[in-house]
Amino acid sequence: MSPMFQIDFGRPVRSRVVGIDLGTTNSLVAYMDLTSPKVIPDPGGSLIVPSVVSLSGAGELVAGNEGRQMLLTDPERTVYSVKRLMGKGAADVQDELQLFPFHIASASDAVIQIELGDRTFTPPEISAQILRQLKSNAEAYFGERVTQAVITVPAYFNDAQRQATKDAGRIAGLEVLRLVNEPTAAALAYGLDKRKEGVVAVYDLGGGTFDISILKLHQGIFEVLATNGDTHLGGDDIDNLLLRIALEDTATEWGEDLSTNHEAIQLLRRAVIEAKEQLSTVPVTSIRLEYHGKKYERELTRELFEQLITPIVDRTLAPCRNCIHDAGLNVEQIDEVVLVGGSTRIPLVRQAVEKLFRAKPHTELNPEQVVALGAAVQAAILAGDVTDKLLLDVTPLSLGIETMGGVVSKLIHRNSTIPASATEVFTTAVEGQRNVLIHVVQGERELARDCRSLARFDLKDIDPMPAGMARIEVRFLIDANGILNVTARDIRTGKEQSMEVKPSYGLTDEQVEAMIRESIDLAEEDFKARQVREAQVEADTILAAVERARDNEAWLELDDEERSRIERAVNELLMAYHADDHLLIRAQIDKLNTVTMKLAENMMNTAVRSALKGTKI
Ligand code: ADP
Ligand code: MG
Repeated sequence: MSPMFQIDFGRPVRSRVVGIDLGTTNSLVAYMDLTSPKVIPDPGGSLIVPSVVSLSGAGELVAGNEGRQMLLTDPERTVYSVKRLMGKGAADVQDELQLFPFHIASASDAVIQIELGDRTFTPPEISAQILRQLKSNAEAYFGERVTQAVITVPAYFNDAQRQATKDAGRIAGLEVLRLVNEPTAAALAYGLDKRKEGVVAVYDLGGGTFDISILKLHQGIFEVLATNGDTHLGGDDIDNLLLRIALEDTATEWGEDLSTNHEAIQLLRRAVIEAKEQLSTVPVTSIRLEYHGKKYERELTRELFEQLITPIVDRTLAPCRNCIHDAGLNVEQIDEVVLVGGSTRIPLVRQAVEKLFRAKPHTELNPEQVVALGAAVQAAILAGDVTDKLLLDVTPLSLGIETMGGVVSKLIHRNSTIPASATEVFTTAVEGQRNVLIHVVQGERELARDCRSLARFDLKDIDPMPAGMARIEVRFLIDANGILNVTARDIRTGKEQSMEVKPSYGLTDEQVEAMIRESIDLAEEDFKARQVREAQVEADTILAAVERARDNEAWLELDDEERSRIERAVNELLMAYHADDHLLIRAQIDKLNTVTMKLAENMMNTAVRSALKGTKI
């Protein structure tokens, strides 16, 4: 049955696929052992790779513990929390950037360039160094090459952030078979997919971020119903709070203000983190620092600690309530709660979660490892190592619906593992529209007429609304047998219509292969490459024109400011040139065009003048 889902499209022969948790603070790599997922240690036995990258004196990027060491000695050449910058433009992260000790090179709004020493790197290049470290740890562990991975990303990551993560993988020499949502990975690690049906809340309190996600499990497939959180809330806030206390203490006891002493601060930070982590298991500990012969020690009880951090823990509760609300659920409808992130080891956090969700959360797995373990489970499923799991295979062609102008909006992409599900919200194009035609198509081409039509049905009697106001939710669900179920729902009235389609029906292997070949010829990669190439050609033209203009007297008529604006735009265009992004190249071309307007005008005048000179009146 459904032969279409079992064709081998020449994927590389099986190799080890690892699962990677690329975290804001810490990263891990895991694999599927015979029976269960395991985190892979580095050659020194450490399981966690700090997500810190530094440019060494020798001009090489180093990641992990080596990078973290350089936070002490070379903060300006060291990058942490790069995950916050992934897929972002400089304008998106202005506030964020002020908190970092490293510098951002003057860059276009679309791409951030991080300045380390005399070199610049994009966030994916920095992330790639962390991935290289994880990859090499795995290779040392297995004694063989590792080239394929599953990488986890926050559920709220948008397309650009996901793409940036994939780019990081590619730069590191890893084929990213799939990006998995972090909460989904956590639920997989706990084997919650075996339940088949249910609702799972994943509470993730890490170093610098807090995420709450609500997943719906339907026939063993996870769907993210809602996410919420705080991008600046986590263990770091607790560390800062304790650090402030320790700084006040040392100021009084030593009569010395350490708050501007970078080295002392880093050492003190380590001391408070150690005390904090101990308090998760013991009722009392001390913060200790020895610095240039001076000693500092303060006893800290868990009781006082809990008093101090209560406001921080409380800040996680409102996002949880909002998330439950956004998912359209009551707290009683949540079946399982999973704890993720190192900061959920804190007993007070566990109590708060239990109280809010009125259920004992899962804590059996190590909360710092659980995402990586889930990624390893997913990796093993993709590698075909796990056979008792759901029948997972891939959709050979993308599935989507026709939207305005006959353009296809893809909901499930080619090579997605089945079972799979996706939901997207559409709107109406016509004033007072009452019926919506749902046209389901299969294929890789951009226009519906070039794809294969699978089904058409009407969602009738929706509320008449002004164009663009109606909200129609379309949900695609492919079950393990390759049966596609399409549901369209008017969100306002709840009216819905669904239809079952067998996407594989009636297509021979040859036809499928032909469609893919055609799509490879015409769509996606080639299409993108063509767009990039076209943009580069245009860039060549304008760059050459600017180069020529430098010899023109019109160039001399510009003032310094105008000339340097052009120089900057030229540099930005050169930087964008190889970015593999035609939109970025075009944006820079437009910018260069704008700043050279005066120059072009001057040149025109010069040309007219010299033409006039030659004319006999
Ligand atoms: P991220 O997902 O942001 O990369 P992690 O999940 O690795 O972060 O969590 C890191 C945070 O967990 C740090 O703030 C660390 O101090 C904290 N942490 C680790 N172990 C403990 C512990 N035993 N008690 C309290 N906090 C801990
Ligand atoms: Mg994490």
